[in-house]
Amino acid sequence: MKFATKAIHAGQEPDPTTGAVMTPIYQTSTYWQKSPGDHKGFEYSRGTNPTRKALEACLAALENAKHGLAFSSGMGATDTVMKLLQPGDEVITGNDLYGGSYRIFTKVYAKYGIKFHFLDLSKPENIVPYLNDKTKLVWIETPTNPTMQIVDIEGIAKITKAHKILLTVDNTFASPYLQNPIDLGADIVMHSATKYLGGHSDVVMGALMVNDDQLYKDLWFIYNACGATPGPQDAFLVLRGIKTLHLRMKAHCENGAKVAHFLKKHPKVDKIYWPGFEDHPNHEVAKKQMRDFGGMVSFTLKGADLKETFRVAGSFEVFSLAESLGGVESLINHPVSMTHGSIPKEEREKVGVTDNLLRLSVGVEDIDDLLADLERALK
Ligand SMILES: *Cc1c(COP(=O)(O)O)cnc(C)c1O
Repeated sequence: MKFATKAIHAGQEPDPTTGAVMTPIYQTSTYWQKSPGDHKGFEYSRGTNPTRKALEACLAALENAKHGLAFSSGMGATDTVMKLLQPGDEVITGNDLYGGSYRIFTKVYAKYGIKFHFLDLSKPENIVPYLNDKTKLVWIETPTNPTMQIVDIEGIAKITKAHKILLTVDNTFASPYLQNPIDLGADIVMHSATKYLGGHSDVVMGALMVNDDQLYKDLWFIYNACGATPGPQDAFLVLRGIKTLHLRMKAHCENGAKVAHFLKKHPKVDKIYWPGFEDHPNHEVAKKQMRDFGGMVSFTLKGADLKETFRVAGSFEVFSLAESLGGVESLINHPVSMTHGSIPKEEREKVGVTDNLLRLSVGVEDIDDLLADLERALK
C-alpha cells in the first residue's frame, strides 16, 4: 500500500462485533477470560488494548516497520529506549537536541551511570573517535530542534551496523511522511506523536517503531513492566489525526517554504534555518533522505536583545505563542525561554540557540494571512 492509503486504513478493520467502520474506543482496563488464560489476546490494558493495537499497527505501517508501540508521551517512549541500557554503557548523541531529551539524558540517566557524548553530527564519521566497546546506542534527531541541522541517517547507520550498536532516530520533526529512518538503516524510530502524527494539538503521545522481533520483545517488556502506556481515548485521537497526515504535511511543506523565502528577504531577519535552502548545511543530505523540507522554520532577529525578541514574539495575531509544534495551527516559540530552558547557555549558544532566536511551526492556514501576520509582527 502507498502512504496515503496506509495513513487511512493500516491496522483498521470494521469492528467484528458491530461492523463500526471507525475503530471503537475500548474504554476498559480488563478483559473476560473463559477459564484462566483462555482469552482473545487481551488481558489487561497496560499491556494491550484493541484501540491502541490498531494505532500501533498503523504507526508501524507508516514507518515501514514490523512493530509499533504507542506511549503516554514522547518522553515515555525515550525513557523506554534508555532502559535497554545498563550502568557503564555509553551513548553518542547530537549537540542540538530537543530540550527534554537533553534533560532526561543528563539529569536522569547520567545518574544511573550511563555516559553521554554530545557531538556535532554534521558528518557521520564524527562519531568514530567516540566508539568503544561500551558504546551501546547512537541517538539522533534530524532535522534538529530548533536549528534544523541535518544528520545523514544512512551514513551513521553504516557505522552503527558495523559496530553492532543500536541506532535510534527521533523522527518527530520530519514525520513518517517526509522521512523513514528504518529504510535508511535505523533500528528504532521514535516519535512525539503529540506533534505531526496527532496533528491537532489535542493529545500527548509517543511512539516507537522497530523491525527486529527480539528488540520489539525487549521494548514491550519494559513498556508493560514500567507502564508509560496511553489510554484508548488518546489512541483514538492519534489514529484519527493520522488519517490526514499526508494532506496536512503537503500543506505544512508548502506554507513552510513560502514563509522561509519571505523571511530570507526580510530586512529584520538575520540567520534563517530551513533545510530547503541550497546554502543550508547538509541541504544535499536533506534532499536525499527527505521527501520535502517540512513546516519548521527558525530565524534570528537582526540586532535584537531579549526584550525586543519578546516584543516581537508577543505581537502575532495568527501565530500563537506556545510550546509544541506540528498542529494545523501556526505556533511561534522562543526556544531559550520555552522549549530549551533546560539547556545551559554555553551549550545552546554553541549551536546557535541564542536569545534572539524564534522558531515557527508553520500551520496549514491561508498563506496570505500567515505572511501578513509576520509582516505586522516584524515591523
Ligand atoms: C516534543 C518532542 C519530544 C517529546 O515528546 P512529548 O510528547 O512532549 O513527550 C521529543 N522529541 C522532539 C523532537 C519533540 O519535538
